[in-house]
Amino acid sequence: MAAAAAASSDESVEIARKEYIGTTWHAFSFKFAVLHLDDLQSWTFHEEFDTDCPGMPTSWMCKMVFAKAPITAIVNLPFSLKRTDSSDDPVKLRVSLHICDAIGTHLFNTEERLEIESICGGGEIEKELTEILPSIERVEFYEMKLFVYLIVEILSCHTVTWENKTTPEL
Ligand SMILES: [Zn+2]
Repeated sequence: MAAAAAASSDESVEIARKEYIGTTWHAFSFKFAVLHLDDLQSWTFHEEFDTDCPGMPTSWMCKMVFAKAPITAIVNLPFSLKRTDSSDDPVKLRVSLHICDAIGTHLFNTEERLEIESICGGGEIEKELTEILPSIERVEFYEMKLFVYLIVEILSCHTVTWENKTTPEL
């Protein structure tokens, strides 16, 4: 049932969520904007998703805590992604995270893609991302709007069986 999941983000932020399936992979994307952290104080992204894979189904939980900037203007963003099923079969994982402030400045050095060659059930990635906001304007832009785009790719869990596919005519 698609009824209320055990863990889901506070609905004050609308999350555009998409799911894709490829020949050997699955991808989940989450796009959202966190507005007015100065009023919210903090907001937690907390999403669970599963691949419903024909080969090796896997389940995941991702969490990020966005907080208002402290007086020191060094902001931390705890990020965790856990594989919550109990299978011993490994999959490959790729995570892309892009975070910008209200004027489009990239934050938290999130341009790089994280790749994990092998993660089994119960495995977890935890990272503490840090950004220094060097001026009061940058703090204001940070607290005004954070635009977040997260893509989680799960690979090497199935391969397409071609027997049901139509072979192209030569
Ligand atoms: Zn799969």
